[in-house]
Amino acid sequence: MILVLGGTAEARELAGALDAAGVHVTSSLAGRVSRPRLPAGTVRIGGFGGPDGLARWLSERGVAAVVDATHPFAERISDSAAAACRRAGVPLLRLQRPGWSERPGDEWHWVQDLDEAAAAIPALGERVLLTTGRQGLPAFAGVDDAWFLVRCVEAPEPPLPPRHELLLDRGPYTIDGELALVDEHRVELLVTKDSGGTHTEAKLEAARRRGLPVIVVRRPPRPDVACVSNVEDALVWALSHEHAHAG
Ligand code: NAP
Repeated sequence: MILVLGGTAEARELAGALDAAGVHVTSSLAGRVSRPRLPAGTVRIGGFGGPDGLARWLSERGVAAVVDATHPFAERISDSAAAACRRAGVPLLRLQRPGWSERPGDEWHWVQDLDEAAAAIPALGERVLLTTGRQGLPAFAGVDDAWFLVRCVEAPEPPLPPRHELLLDRGPYTIDGELALVDEHRVELLVTKDSGGTHTEAKLEAARRRGLPVIVVRRPPRPDVACVSNVEDALVWALSHEHAHAG
């Protein structure tokens, strides 16, 4: 069996491809989203109980290999996977989409984390499209000299910035849709993580066309494990480990 640590479009694609190839694949989701898009194959939901719990889970089920296809900003599960796979002696591959890169003419301000993003806002714009996700919103709760259009998949818990409007939505987004949003709300500044991928990159093109500055949060450091950047390479790797395990 191949375990895919998921919660991303790439993880769903990989699970679909493994399932179509006749491989027993289990996808694992954290359970943050109430109605997740489910991949093909078996799905389990919820944490493992840290590296120890995950190592036990792997050993008990005789897992052939693990693909960590979690989001570039999901830090703890990747650390946990690295430790658990080492301990259980199970091969691990990281599937991580490339980050975004700025183009000539773009005004991108790279920051280390959400706190730095919040601190950079007042100098760059008063009307902010904030797309960094529900979990990090407390970092912006103290910014009272800007108005925020907060877009996230699920309703966030307080604290939130004092002046905001909430927009619950889930990609993929189109350039026309993002332009309409920017224009309707007279957005002056975009704040995003460097999530990479095509599902949510239209906002960057919209900012480019409207000449808006963008605050981009850098990706956190990753454990030192083998890494590929596309689903095809991850599929080849997983198939070879599944066959070696079965043979
Ligand atoms: P995180 O901080 O790395 O994880 C926190 C805890 O949640 C982990 O220690 C683990 O619990 C559990 N967990 C996380 N991902 C899991 C998975 N795929 N399967 C089983 N348990 C998981 O992660 P996060 O930032 O909260 O993200 C949660 C999920 O949302 C991830 O699957 C990620 O791919 C997806 N996601 C995250 C972002 C983001 O910006 N962070 C964006 C889009 C999607 P235990 O220690 O108990 O095992």
